[in-house]
Amino acid sequence: MTESKGAGVVRVAVDAPQHSGLNGPLDYASEQALASGTLVRVPLGRRELLGVVWPGEAVGQPEMALRPVAAVFAALPPLGADWCRMLDFAAGYYQRSVGELASAVLPPQLRELSPEQLVARLRKLDRKPAKAAAASPVKPPLAPEQAEAVARIEAQLASAAPRPAPRPALLFGVTGSGKTEVYLRAAEAALAAGRQVLVLVPEINLTPQLEARFTERFAALLPQPLAIVSLHSALTPAQRLQNWLAAHLGRARLVLGTRLAVFASMPELGLIVVDEEHDPSYKQQDGARYSARDLAVWRAHDLKVPVVLGSATPSLESWQHAESGRYERLTLAARIGGGVLPRVRLFDMKSLPATAGVTTALTAPLLAALKERLDRGEQSLVFLNRRGYAPVLHCGECQWKSDCPHCSAWRVFHKRDRTLRCHHCGFTERVPSACPNCGNHDIAPIGRGTEKLEEQLTEALPGARVLRIDADSTRRKGELETQLKAVHDGDVDILVGTQMITKGHDFRRIRFVAAVNPDGALFSSDFRAPERLFALLMQAGGRAGRDASGETPAEMWVQTWHREHALYQALARHDYVRFANDQLAERRSASLPPFSHLALLRAEARTADAAKAFLLAAAELMHDEGVLVYPPVPHAVARVADVERMQMLLEASQRARLQAALRAWVPELIALKRVHKAVLRWAVDVDPLAI
Ligand code: ADP
Ligand code: ZN
Ligand code: ZN
Repeated sequence: MTESKGAGVVRVAVDAPQHSGLNGPLDYASEQALASGTLVRVPLGRRELLGVVWPGEAVGQPEMALRPVAAVFAALPPLGADWCRMLDFAAGYYQRSVGELASAVLPPQLRELSPEQLVARLRKLDRKPAKAAAASPVKPPLAPEQAEAVARIEAQLASAAPRPAPRPALLFGVTGSGKTEVYLRAAEAALAAGRQVLVLVPEINLTPQLEARFTERFAALLPQPLAIVSLHSALTPAQRLQNWLAAHLGRARLVLGTRLAVFASMPELGLIVVDEEHDPSYKQQDGARYSARDLAVWRAHDLKVPVVLGSATPSLESWQHAESGRYERLTLAARIGGGVLPRVRLFDMKSLPATAGVTTALTAPLLAALKERLDRGEQSLVFLNRRGYAPVLHCGECQWKSDCPHCSAWRVFHKRDRTLRCHHCGFTERVPSACPNCGNHDIAPIGRGTEKLEEQLTEALPGARVLRIDADSTRRKGELETQLKAVHDGDVDILVGTQMITKGHDFRRIRFVAAVNPDGALFSSDFRAPERLFALLMQAGGRAGRDASGETPAEMWVQTWHREHALYQALARHDYVRFANDQLAERRSASLPPFSHLALLRAEARTADAAKAFLLAAAELMHDEGVLVYPPVPHAVARVADVERMQMLLEASQRARLQAALRAWVPELIALKRVHKAVLRWAVDVDPLAI
């Protein structure tokens, strides 16, 4: 039960600006007793903001005249003590104020509504018509490995409280091994026990597919309106509030969503699933830079409920936990129906005649392979992680390149709408007809993106139905669904795209996947780049041969200048375990995560010097010698929208040590910022994904 406070003083978590230095909950006067977790509106400065009555004793000095709570959302049950605990933890861990975090993760529309308007919304929920009765679903009999995994999770669900928190389960299953069926069965068991279930996916564009699968399975079991809802940022504000309310009121039994859904209020939460747990999109990249995967594990532990982390290529953090026994590993080694993983062909670019090899991504042997598949009526996927037509336009006379005037980056040439677009700040101009520098008319694109690949494929393979799917082709609502349907229906011969098409999709017809230019990530300065590349290629390869009934062997074609690289060698054998253990050994000897713990201090200013001065001064304020502070360096893209970005890495061997040091440091940084007026923004990123 939530504690009730007597009339008088209440603490309210409210989004006070960081520079004000007010970072805990603030005290307000209230005439009525308010339970913790109650939503309220309170004045702050000249504004009135959404706030949450926070657990704990008010520390306010009685002699101070407190401002009164302006309005109370009395019709809404208070947020649970568990929800407040999670927010307290996350705010502390990621070094933000709890009010800021609460305001960021509650549905945005709550901020705009009055208590009366919210009452109207709640009434509207009651009037949702019931759905037509659904037929009971057909459940496939489980494969032995699936049955084993399901049994383990069911055992965790069944063990009666009080009990220790179950160990997080790492469902390590190759692509096409039926991980989703395991989630469905586990969810079924939790639902049958009267619990709510939360399922997280990395990408918004995977939610419709997942929602369809869960709805198909559970529509008969959960006939009530809003029993299955999704939560992600592509919903309209009204839908998002409606679905959030359904979860909070316990009507939604199953919540499917992207990272923000980890903060859904679910009073009867009994199971959390994190699909593709290794995916970088679980990490929020601004504001409170939380990891939804890590918070899911924390939340499950706090509630003593099972959490299932699924992946064919687990993050090395999770893999290490499985190795050490902290997580329970559940392995699905076989593809459903005996489908074999695609044969990986590492195509050696050095084997091409020197002239041809350098300029072309569509090598003659690759075209021949595509042609062969085409003639047999099979589908292929060509993958290139760069959208647009070409990454840069170039003048052969004066060497002008299409740089962005506001960023340290090239503007990408988009041929379809004849624009030069900066993918960092959005700055867009029409393509000049002549070199803006010397007037030469002969300006040409260098390199290639998906748009050019699409064009070249169409030219090289007349009659082939080529479809490109990337962020540009799917800008309008509904486009992605239409395009995916065309692929599933077999109306496409060759699918071209970015990593958007490599994740999660259960394409049944694809038998050939090509990665035309993946080498870039091999030599990145980011220590996580190989891990990401390996996962991406395994995922991409996993789109091929998902239907075992195909007559020809499925194949993955990787064009590389570095065939012998250990990463590709492990890929060719589908040997994640080998790859992971090699990487972990390297990380251990270099004391990189998961064997050390990192944080980044980022600073942005009009000049690099100003940003750097702030970071250097901040370094002086770090007094814990157990925390190693590296020199400031520019961000990988140093300037964006005329702002210079610098960052400084901190490393400690113990998480708790780093946490304690950050806790002491951040208030000093708030004060420091007042002196460094040229700094526009600064932020601490705990457990940064990219450095
Ligand atoms: P993963 O997520 O591991 O890549 P999926 O869950 O998408 O794999 O499963 C791959 C395919 O196998 C899906 O089409 C799914 O419907 C099917 N499938 C899963 N489990 C079974 C089963 N026990 N019997 C028959 N088909 C199954
Ligand atoms: Zn720009
Ligand atoms: Zn020129």
